[in-house]
Amino acid sequence: MNSASREDLGDVRKRIDELDRQLIGLLKDRMDAVQDIGSAKNRDQGAAVFDPRRERELREKWAKDAEAQGLSSFHTARILREILSYSRSEQVDQQTAAVADGMESHRVGYQGEELSYSHLCIQKLFASRGGRALPRGYESFRKAVEGLQSGEVDYLLLPVENSICGSIPEVNQHLASGQLSVVDEDLWIVEHCLAGLPGAEVNNLQVLHSHPVALAQCQEFLASMPSARAEAVYDTGAAARKVAEEGDRSIAAICSEEAAEHFGLEVLRRSVGDQPKNLTRFLLLGRQEEELDLDRPAKTSLVLSVHHRRGALAEVLQVFAERDVNLTRLESRPIPESPFEYLFFIDLEGHARSEHLREALQEIRRHCNHLKVIGSYPARPLEARDVHLPPVETGPPAVAPVVKPAAALAKAKTREVMVSDVPVGGADFVLMAGPCAVENRDQIMSAAAMVAERGASILRGGAFKPRTSPYSFQGLGFPGLDLLVEAGRAVGLPVVTEVLRPEDVEGVAASADMLQVGARNMQNFALLKELGKTRRPILLKRGMSATIKELLQAAEYVFAGGNQQVILCERGIRTFETSTRSTLDVSAVPVLRELCDLPIIIDPSHAAGRRELVLPLAMAGAAAGADGMIVESHPEPDAALCDKEQALHPEDLQSLVQLLKAILAAQGRRLYC
Ligand code: PEP
Ligand code: MN
Repeated sequence: MNSASREDLGDVRKRIDELDRQLIGLLKDRMDAVQDIGSAKNRDQGAAVFDPRRERELREKWAKDAEAQGLSSFHTARILREILSYSRSEQVDQQTAAVADGMESHRVGYQGEELSYSHLCIQKLFASRGGRALPRGYESFRKAVEGLQSGEVDYLLLPVENSICGSIPEVNQHLASGQLSVVDEDLWIVEHCLAGLPGAEVNNLQVLHSHPVALAQCQEFLASMPSARAEAVYDTGAAARKVAEEGDRSIAAICSEEAAEHFGLEVLRRSVGDQPKNLTRFLLLGRQEEELDLDRPAKTSLVLSVHHRRGALAEVLQVFAERDVNLTRLESRPIPESPFEYLFFIDLEGHARSEHLREALQEIRRHCNHLKVIGSYPARPLEARDVHLPPVETGPPAVAPVVKPAAALAKAKTREVMVSDVPVGGADFVLMAGPCAVENRDQIMSAAAMVAERGASILRGGAFKPRTSPYSFQGLGFPGLDLLVEAGRAVGLPVVTEVLRPEDVEGVAASADMLQVGARNMQNFALLKELGKTRRPILLKRGMSATIKELLQAAEYVFAGGNQQVILCERGIRTFETSTRSTLDVSAVPVLRELCDLPIIIDPSHAAGRRELVLPLAMAGAAAGADGMIVESHPEPDAALCDKEQALHPEDLQSLVQLLKAILAAQGRRLYC
């Protein structure tokens, strides 16, 4: 290359630099315009960022202009694609910033794509809720729920039932998980259209895309078109987009009219559904409950399971009937872990905080193993129908409290909690006995035989031990639990064992019949919350420094998670007195009896700390009216690895049972066997 051409090159490069500068300036101007459009979309209730019709127009224009100038339309199309993607991401950022600005914008997740029925219903619902909705589509219900849980969106709108197909099992499953709150509802009138490219002919269609449910709802229409093949797409909005993108007149979608219009499709036929009336009910879900004006007509959603005995469901329904509570949905779903047992989904009219419903919920608790209020929300007038307005009151929590209102005290009976097949809180007194800790196979097998022979009906034994000193025996953990269960089975007794950590709850609940919360963990709220999710009864021990009210509040944590099976245990509290390990607060028994309807048992062993004191304290507890007792007893107390001073010898246990029987007889009660 000679020096002259090198100079020319320099000039050309300068020219290119200048053109690039202009290109960037133009790009900047273009992005400013894109932002103006973004602001307009935000004002328009979060209108869709992606506008395929407009993008198609641009592609066509660019191709024409590029070719007219002698450029390759292939390469210019690639540049345009990048520019459009940059523009869209800028508008998405704008929407996110609008949320951050506190402009009352709400990110709302849904399953599907833009212009699906869920997406359309979001716009409808937020038009009446107020605030701007920024919809975000997810490919599956599970991903949408994860999006809500991780905080990626503020709400989720999920379809829960359809007037033709019934409920959507996967959505019910997420509701049952207890992680979400229902904060609103809405109804969408589904009108399926057949939509194709402009100029498409119904008789020439070969493929019909739609959501499988929509296809199932258009069976008669599909049968009338034998030459067209139905193909499932995960959502009706996506079906319409696919038809628009494929540009083939032999393909059509079954979708909403709005989706057809948005994607530039022509409605070839309206009302292609088999039923003229097709309604889908959607629930708006949040991470937590929302304040709701008690004067507004409300609905409440519950998930519950009832005791496995005759008439339990009828009793629940009877409570609602007697209190004039109108049910708007009652459905059941199998509980996979417990074959042929069912979870019930109940929606009813009224606010869970109204006096009316609080009383009803308080009463049905007695018949439920599991009861969770998953939300009270505005009753949207779904169709012209009377909305029953119960009397309202402000204040107390949505889940019926453990503490009974004074008026209910006199008539309420203690509720029975079933530990496997042993009823605690019923007419008979229940004795639970066993060693402090599971130490080895021989020890727990002989302990099980010993307590069963002497009249205990539940075997205790710690596999995870909460020890004051880190150098003391800490328990055998899960292998110890296996031994305990094996020993219990061998003598036909259900077992109770302590769980220390939230992460162990699932594993312990898989085999123990009842899970114990020790005194040291009574206010371990993470543990209590986890126990709220299980289906096993909980033996909740009073903390050493806990008041009775705090004990009840701890029980409330378990209830709030849904689990309604809690047995309270008085095990001694720390006072200035040092001659006993703890001071057994016998008065807690009648006081708790006054305040709640839960079974109450006593633990004389941990209160006494000394074997000689266990029997007198045990008698005091039974005389005070406890529903049962848990005592430590070891086949060879002197060899015990844990709490040996308080462990009863086999013969002490024998005497305890004899004395107990006499007291119970005087009270007109019996020892359960
Ligand atoms: C126990 O029952 O083994 C126990 C540790 O009791 P507490 O939590 O009452 O001390
Ligand atoms: Mn102990």
